[in-house]
Amino acid sequence: MVNKNVNINLVVQSTATISDTCMSVFFEHPPGFVYEPGDWIDLNFNDGNPRGGITYSLSSSPTEDNLSVTFKLGISPFKKRLQSLEPNDTMFISQYGNDYGFHLKENRSSVLIAGGIGIAPFRSMIKEMYDTDNKNDVQLIYLNKDTAFVFADELSLWEKQLPNINVKYIITEQLSRKKREKLLIPMIDKNAHHYFIAGPEAMVESTEHLLIDDMGISVKDIRIDSFGGY
Ligand SMILES: Cc1cc2nc3c(=O)[nH]c(=O)nc-3n(C[C@H](O)[C@H](O)[C@H](O)COP(=O)(O)OP(=O)(O)OC[C@H]3O[C@@H](n4cnc5c(N)ncnc54)[C@H](O)[C@@H]3O)c2cc1C
Repeated sequence: MVNKNVNINLVVQSTATISDTCMSVFFEHPPGFVYEPGDWIDLNFNDGNPRGGITYSLSSSPTEDNLSVTFKLGISPFKKRLQSLEPNDTMFISQYGNDYGFHLKENRSSVLIAGGIGIAPFRSMIKEMYDTDNKNDVQLIYLNKDTAFVFADELSLWEKQLPNINVKYIITEQLSRKKREKLLIPMIDKNAHHYFIAGPEAMVESTEHLLIDDMGISVKDIRIDSFGGY
């Protein structure tokens, strides 16, 4: 998809704290706005204060009635205002799109590797699979520093109902990089068609190197969503 400059109004429906460190904002679905799981939006406040254009993956699926973004609580002025949103507050999308073909492909097996809040676009993908009874094989490997895996309840329900979805969790807090990689490598299906990595920049970079250098996965089969700012 070509990234698009737009001015799409958003109305807040609700907000939800989903762990000690994460929250979601739910917006009414703007009329005519079409997106695919894996797409991101650039969010702005209408008065431009603080300056916006901050990128968030859509954690909602197009099969749902509303749009949502999910983020790690933070201390920047933008995050502080985002965290204090109330129903009926308004924002706007200045751009939306997708980088490097970050979409699941029909009839292709995929390994999704999430680091912390990198689960957001994968929640969108798997929710859409669940709602459309999609038969593609998907393996999700979800790394988080502690046991507070966001969306774990939903993921476990979807995994139970769809035999083609498999979810594995790794708690990274006590693990050196070497130990983390030792756990990760045997979990990854080496014969998948595509590999998707999402999360903080350093995690995405190190996981991409692991796939290419240690596992011999071809770079053309890897898609990344690298979250700057963390
Ligand atoms: C394609 C793409 C998709 C993205 N999708 C998402 C997404 O779905 N969800 C998401 O959360 N981000 C996403 N991001 C990243 C997002 O755009 C921001 O860069 C990120 O959320 C950081 O936000 P912030 O700059 O407001 O900083 P903050 O979160 O406020 O952080 C600023 C700095 O302070 C540190 N910090 C934050 N909180 C604390 C604290 N309590 N105590 C001490 N230090 C703290 C942070 O580590 C960081 O170094 C995405 C980025 C891209 C490019």
